[in-house]
Amino acid sequence: MKKQTKAIRTQTGQTQYREHSTPLFLTSSFTFESAEQGKELFEETLEGNIYSRFSNPNVTEFVDKVCMLEGAEEGIATATGMAAVFASMAGLLKSGDHIVACRALFGSAHQIITQILAKWDITHTYLDATATEAEWDAAIQPNTRMVYLETPSNPGLELVDLAMLGRLKAKHGFILNVDNCFATPLLQTPLDFGADLSVHSATKFMDGQGRVLGGIVVGSAELIAPIRFFARHTGPSLSPFNAWTLSKSLETLDLRMERHCKNALALAESLEQHPDVATVKYPFLPSHPQYELAKRQMSAGGAIVTIELEGGFERVQAFMEALEIPTLSSNLGDSRTIVTNPNTTTHAKLKPDEKKALGITPGLIRISVGLEHIDDLIADFAQALTVSAEVMKERV
Ligand SMILES: *Cc1c(COP(=O)(O)O)cnc(C)c1O
Repeated sequence: MKKQTKAIRTQTGQTQYREHSTPLFLTSSFTFESAEQGKELFEETLEGNIYSRFSNPNVTEFVDKVCMLEGAEEGIATATGMAAVFASMAGLLKSGDHIVACRALFGSAHQIITQILAKWDITHTYLDATATEAEWDAAIQPNTRMVYLETPSNPGLELVDLAMLGRLKAKHGFILNVDNCFATPLLQTPLDFGADLSVHSATKFMDGQGRVLGGIVVGSAELIAPIRFFARHTGPSLSPFNAWTLSKSLETLDLRMERHCKNALALAESLEQHPDVATVKYPFLPSHPQYELAKRQMSAGGAIVTIELEGGFERVQAFMEALEIPTLSSNLGDSRTIVTNPNTTTHAKLKPDEKKALGITPGLIRISVGLEHIDDLIADFAQALTVSAEVMKERV
């Protein structure tokens, strides 16, 4: 069966009530049929649920689906994406280790690497997403235990060549850890390129409707075991309710991503024609500097488009006020289109040189393209460009 079918048909066993849809197992603990069974469960000679910090049927169903979508052996679900990122590092790294990471990281991942892991003498080296194979190779030290990256990056939409890093991993033997949140396993499966771990903020496209937080890390049984140990004893567990919501959402992930990507490409193409839009970035636009790479490692371009408006923040303000459909929010991966100005919101705290390295300018707008009808989105962006141009003219 294709993975799209399995994402719909993978399901927790039916209870005696013969329900069709998986029920919500809102229970903190599970009972033992006998003292002997309790003993066996704790000895791990018998597999089964004990306590929802360790496992829960709803959480297991969600994990099974993501493992299947990513082609991974095992996984751990967590309360948030950041808990998954941190667990994937804390479970595997020790004092004295070194991480090589792509500079274009989600803000909290940057804080974990530079502030939190640094407290335990775990050092790091940052590289640009577009660094060459020789530059990545040169950054690997004898104590480099992990290479961590996001592709496509936020908000620059730069890609890291996964096959290239897979080759370097074969040479050096580090753990290749990829945040696959922007692409989702429907568009890109890092493990196929040699990655060891794929981590997600399930809060984004996996939920896809802006309701719950969640995270997951998947990979080989060997690497997941120490991460599971870390998670079991430190407790970043995903709640059964959120797991139930996320597992249901995975049934429509393929359908939603298809529409997200179709809308994003069409909107990017229409904005590229507009004279007031200085740049449009989208991995599946032929004008994207890494278009060929995008085609090699992704099956579609994703839902995120960035544009840069002539006129800086003033124009951005006028444009955002004129938009009628999109919501202004710092989130992404929702059925509803969202726009944000990274320079003054998600990436506001970065230093000027860090912003420059990531291409974050005052006029940059990140668009998380939703599932609305594309004709309405194109018309709304066009009218907001016209209205904001008039506002700017009046100000002169
Ligand atoms: C949102 C996001 C995260 C963090 O996820 P949370 O669920 O908010 O903790 C990590 N990586 C990327 C790429 C994200 O977009």
